[in-house]
Amino acid sequence: MPGNHAFLSPSSSVRWYFCPPSARLCEQFPDQGSVYASEGTEAHSLCEVLLKSALGMPCVDPRPSLQYYSPEMEEAAEGYVQYILEKVERYKAESPGAEPSVFVEQGLDLREYIPQSMGTADCVIIAGDTAEIIDFKYGMHPVPATSMQLRIYALGACEVFSHLYDFTRVRMAVYQPRLHSVDETEMTVADLYAWAVNELSPRARQAFDGVGEFACGDWCRCCRARRNCRALADYQLEIAKYEFASPATLSDEEIADVLSRVDALASWAEDVKEYALAEALKGHSYPGFKVVESRTKRLFTDDEAVAARVKKAGKEPYETKLLGVKAMEDLLGKKAFAELLSDLVTRPEGKPTLVPDSDKRPELITADKEFA
Ligand code: SF4
Repeated sequence: MPGNHAFLSPSSSVRWYFCPPSARLCEQFPDQGSVYASEGTEAHSLCEVLLKSALGMPCVDPRPSLQYYSPEMEEAAEGYVQYILEKVERYKAESPGAEPSVFVEQGLDLREYIPQSMGTADCVIIAGDTAEIIDFKYGMHPVPATSMQLRIYALGACEVFSHLYDFTRVRMAVYQPRLHSVDETEMTVADLYAWAVNELSPRARQAFDGVGEFACGDWCRCCRARRNCRALADYQLEIAKYEFASPATLSDEEIADVLSRVDALASWAEDVKEYALAEALKGHSYPGFKVVESRTKRLFTDDEAVAARVKKAGKEPYETKLLGVKAMEDLLGKKAFAELLSDLVTRPEGKPTLVPDSDKRPELITADKEFA
């Protein structure tokens, strides 16, 4: 969904829903964007055009102006189009004679439930008693179809289409090609409106008015205030209480608590460091700290001149290295890679890693554990 920057946007809804005052707080910090966001926006443009083209709608090829275009992006967009076309065919088969309506990059009106908010759905299909909202995600962070963003899109689609079509249920689907994941769910329109009235709308009002309780959670990752937020700092530093007990005295529950929070703590600490450096470079001072040049490695100033002199001295200045698996797959394309090299690819055993129970990988049964 390119270009959605509403104050209470659906894409940031999980943050302002659970931490309503974050919405006004974030206004104080610029949106610095990221390579991933730009890449996602470009992948969406490609999806839009390929889908419109497949549906016979007018469109302009965006490829010449895409900075992050790659064979992987092309493949992802083609897969998305295929997924939608198959859905349309399925709807046709379910209701012969009734042509499904397909809307690409459909504007959504959310203002009745979220002040001043509009949105755009990647694709909406309306067929028989169903309105389906499909969202393309190019990122690597898993997004379930039950996410708040999808539900809000479904609500926006109901607002736009329910007076034109007679559907009673909404389906929500997330197509996430880089995770090889498709997730789908559904609910009745009546349940969706009950949620919107009783839960979404009061939270959105709080967020708009800048009131309510600060609440930390996974959503802090994408909050522009995360490096300055006192609630998050207090939450992250709670872990420091364990510093006063030696590891041998920590209970299993305390160690599990540290394990569940240490990654977020490390990433938050890096964020704060990055922010403080940027501010210091602008002239801000932090007590006890100064900016210095980091240590660097020596570099050649002219690679060709170096190579010429080393060759003249009778030595070989270059090394030849085989491309890595991913780079080779990018070079050949997935199909040719599989045909040519699949029997020469293996995956070495990974190092044991402690992860939460929710991780999809099967548990590693060590010899000690089996014996116990
Ligand atoms: S960092 Fe987390 S707790 Fe702080 S304002 Fe943002 S979402 Fe709320």
